[in-house]
Amino acid sequence: MTNRFTFDRRHLIAGAAVLTAAAATRPLRAQERPMIDAATALIVVDVQNDFCPGGSLAVAKGDEVVAVINALGPRFSNIVLTQDWHPAGHSSFASSHPGKKPFELIQMPYGPQVLWPDHCIQGTKGAEFRADLNLPTAQTIIRKGYRLQIDSYSGFIEADRKTPTGLGGYLKERGVTRAVVVGLATDFCVNWTAQDAAKAGLQTLVVEEACRAIDLNGSLDKAWADMAALGVKRVKVGELPG
Ligand SMILES: [Zn+2]
Repeated sequence: MTNRFTFDRRHLIAGAAVLTAAAATRPLRAQERPMIDAATALIVVDVQNDFCPGGSLAVAKGDEVVAVINALGPRFSNIVLTQDWHPAGHSSFASSHPGKKPFELIQMPYGPQVLWPDHCIQGTKGAEFRADLNLPTAQTIIRKGYRLQIDSYSGFIEADRKTPTGLGGYLKERGVTRAVVVGLATDFCVNWTAQDAAKAGLQTLVVEEACRAIDLNGSLDKAWADMAALGVKRVKVGELPG
């Protein structure tokens, strides 16, 4: 009995110390990392295994965005995830075009298309979100690229530039007027998603540290320029509005 009491008492004291420490740091943390208003949505683009080191279309240091995004998550009351979600044999895969290699450009009925290694095939491990992505309050997952003949870098409109995913309507109905876009890859899916967010009338910000790029033939510089031309703001985490 004595031992047990001693144990319980120590446990309580330890617990109280933790609570006190938490209370002492809470005001400071709130000040450093304020909530972002409910009219703003965090759009997390394609943080999936295949786009991270070890995946079939790995973005260099793609896994480094996870910790940054996990830290941002609790500041948003609206979080949307996009998920690249291709059927096997998708038209964006080089393997679907005899004689073609990954990263070559071909003409599709809707315009030029970069050919990619097979990636993010529906139901595979590569298509899953990173296991360490921790956004328990995210409400919506927009899957894209699931039509065999149409790719979709953008979370809003597919590569034919006509077919909406529904994300624009969803955000509008939810009263969202501002989008903070993060994820993979800066120069492709983040870029197209941010551009379409701006075109949909949303004030749009891209958080630099929360993205990583593929950078294919100058695609990264072009992406930032094209986003800027549409009024998309390139910001650091510390510059996000409170
Ligand atoms: Zn894809």
